[in-house]
Amino acid sequence: MEVILSGTGTSQGVPVIGCDCTVCKSTDTHNVRLRTAAIIQMSNGLNIQIDCGPDFRQQILANDIHSLEHILLTHEHMDHIAGMDDVRAFNFSNRVDMNVYGTGQVLARIRHHFDYAFSRVPYPGAPRIVTNVIDSNPFQLNDVIVQPIPVWHGKWPVMGFRIGNFAYITDVNAIPASSLELLTELDVLVLGVLHQKQHHSHYHLEEGIKVAKLIGANRTIFTHISHQMGLHDEVSAELPTGIELGYDGMRIHVHQE
Ligand SMILES: [Zn+2]
Ligand SMILES: [Zn+2]
Ligand SMILES: [Zn+2]
Repeated sequence: MEVILSGTGTSQGVPVIGCDCTVCKSTDTHNVRLRTAAIIQMSNGLNIQIDCGPDFRQQILANDIHSLEHILLTHEHMDHIAGMDDVRAFNFSNRVDMNVYGTGQVLARIRHHFDYAFSRVPYPGAPRIVTNVIDSNPFQLNDVIVQPIPVWHGKWPVMGFRIGNFAYITDVNAIPASSLELLTELDVLVLGVLHQKQHHSHYHLEEGIKVAKLIGANRTIFTHISHQMGLHDEVSAELPTGIELGYDGMRIHVHQE
């Protein structure tokens, strides 16, 4: 399987509107970050999207994705769901309803924000979304088994996901012991790390490195990065072996043995 990091930025993206810092003004494209999301491409051709933020349309176009049937949602914050209206493109082109997976709490927010897609009187041209409630038990997409990983994002219970030797945990500042047990023997871990200073609902860099070492995946790649992290190249040069900063468009091959 291959994973594309289609966005690696925090909720405001990078550059931040109106900001003149060196990161936001950088001409290196590694410092341009759309809102955090990923596309998993299974070897059998199945595409699975994780999160569907405001840059969803742009990310799908940039990565030339032609088919999508499944979207996994980590949580209900707008930077992870705001692009849901644009699943219409796949409704039309693939002639399928979009299967969306999240906890009951997340799907309730989807129904609230995109109420016109769920109204009894059909709203012409509304996205066609099928909501699938998940809990911490594994579930199946075609022949792919997805293991939800419950973690904490401040006071919000949110989900990470594991598929084979790959795990993806974005907005997070605490991983319970029971979830750490689900993260053994990983080839690749994508982990949300906001910036250098402490934060109430995200790991900062030092914590992220500690957690990455504790989990011990062959490769750990940080995502959900703020402009306050610093320049991509400078921060990357300081990271321990096996730990990297993600960037938009990064393609990660996951070894299954
Ligand atoms: Zn977020
Ligand atoms: Zn800035
Ligand atoms: Zn969040």
